[in-house]
Amino acid sequence: DQKRVEKELENFSYIDGLTGIANRRTFDNMYAREWYRSMRNSSPLSLIMIDVDLFKQYNDQYGHMKGDDALKVVASYLSENIKRASELVARYGGEEFIIVLPDTDAKRALQLAETCRRDMLDRRIPFESSTLSISLGVSTAIPSQDRKSSTLLDEADKALYRAKGKGRNRVEIRDLDEEETQQESHSSE
Ligand code: GH3
Ligand code: MG
Ligand code: MG
Repeated sequence: DQKRVEKELENFSYIDGLTGIANRRTFDNMYAREWYRSMRNSSPLSLIMIDVDLFKQYNDQYGHMKGDDALKVVASYLSENIKRASELVARYGGEEFIIVLPDTDAKRALQLAETCRRDMLDRRIPFESSTLSISLGVSTAIPSQDRKSSTLLDEADKALYRAKGKGRNRVEIRDLDEEETQQESHSSE
């Protein structure tokens, strides 16, 4: 019984209570490890930062309970999309999620992000005259001594911010190994 209680306590501190996926703490630990592992292997590391669109308004219209339900749906389908054992999807904050993709270049990260964006629409969670959507910011880098792990996180955040600015329900990317001018952008449908 003691063991079971311990196990439960451990789970609670690593798993998000609402959605049952990894929490911020698990992300922080895993990301720090992956950063150094990728540096040793000179392999690309990608992040996808996800934020539910206009979620304040969604809560206002349908209530906090429905909002919680929507977050559970997002968490579960994102988890389904992340299949490799080395990959992690975590709840980063309130209505924000993050995916860590080791050994993943910008091209594959972008494809995955686009799949996640479309899958959200396929869930058809009614919102206004349309359905609930997400915006995604992708960042990729081959970690090195002169780079900080927080920079890759910042870049994902900037890409997400740009996706919001360009109208939401879209993916934007920042690749630290590409010139600024070559940054791709993906339009929404
Ligand atoms: P944007 O498209 O720019 O992201 O707009 P937004 O309304 O989603 O952004 P904002 O940051 O203003 O609002 C986020 C909302 O998410 C506010 C908060 O009520 C809601 N939220 C955060 N965590 C939870 C949660 O655990 N449950 C529910 N139901 N709502 C949450
Ligand atoms: Mg937010
Ligand atoms: Mg939001």
